Amino acid sequence: MNSVKKLVRTNIAALKPYSTARDEYRGELGVLLDANENPYDNGVNRYPSMALKEQLRRRVAAIKNIAAERLFLGNGSDEAIDLCYRVFCEPGRDNAVIIAPSYGMYSVCADINAVERRMVPLEPDSFALPVARLLETADAHSKLMFICSPNNPTGNAYSPEAIEFLAQSFGGILVVDEAYIDFSSKPGAQQLLGKYDNLIVLQTLSKAWGMAGLRIGLAMASPYIISLFRQVKYPYNIGTDTIAEALRRLQEDIRPQVAEIVAERDRLCAALPQYGSVLKVYPSDANFLLVKCTDPRGLYAALLKEGVIVRDRSTVPGCEGCLRITVGTPEENVKLEQAIRNYGR
Ligand SMILES: *Cc1c(COP(=O)(O)O)cnc(C)c1O
Repeated sequence: MNSVKKLVRTNIAALKPYSTARDEYRGELGVLLDANENPYDNGVNRYPSMALKEQLRRRVAAIKNIAAERLFLGNGSDEAIDLCYRVFCEPGRDNAVIIAPSYGMYSVCADINAVERRMVPLEPDSFALPVARLLETADAHSKLMFICSPNNPTGNAYSPEAIEFLAQSFGGILVVDEAYIDFSSKPGAQQLLGKYDNLIVLQTLSKAWGMAGLRIGLAMASPYIISLFRQVKYPYNIGTDTIAEALRRLQEDIRPQVAEIVAERDRLCAALPQYGSVLKVYPSDANFLLVKCTDPRGLYAALLKEGVIVRDRSTVPGCEGCLRITVGTPEENVKLEQAIRNYGR
């Protein structure tokens, strides 16, 4: 904790814990005249109950097999990414080391927080982790390093050994974004949390759990880092209806759906290269495929014309010629295939 404490911005490390009158009231149903709410019950007239949010945190912690004090729930993982910058990076002074190509929010949040970003290209075509380059790029002001595994948009996952080596060797906070971990055949970095205080693992309910519209992201880290996130976040970052809906949906077993998506991914991965417009499909541990095409703009436009919307990544350095295609339902994937086949004619 001491070495991590040195990485925290001085103003954040000095924050005094803030609590509301209601946090301090331990009774059941009091007369709530403390928060200037409308007193007439309509289901959402009160600010979100901390007890209910705690219930969600405990439920997610149980599912993830982690102590609740090591878990933060945010308004999407995007909130957790922003909190990494706000907690650790001094604007105009510190920097973040980020793999490229990867998820855009690491850069967006760096820019918003006036933090220098140091982009390190993945190995061309294999998208392997350039471990030595990542470490060489870091200096004494490198507070954060972002690794996404499985990586968006390349689809590949990194070995726990490589992640562990970075956690061990990097002097700042290693953030491993595992938004797609439920689709992956490789183990994630969660198992390393007990061993490395400078590790933050991000996950989300937005992808495999099918709750993108609810906006709930997870950060897993040491209890100290989680306590900092809880101090810096907006007081009521997740709404009452969202918490209740998430609690309800977390009772569902997502494994059959995830298995079907993975099977469809593997089927498409094998099938797409037969079409003349497809040069290569990269192996994927996620719920999308990175597809190298002869004419990405042309194929993109042809798919759009048939009502199939994919992501054009062909102008992203490292992804030249590529479309990123999310795996849909079997029926949607058939439509995708038909549209690709028609384009080839
Ligand atoms: C989709 C995605 C997320 C999810 O963000 P939320 O804010 O939780 O919806 C996080 N990281 C990556 C790399 C993603 O692709």
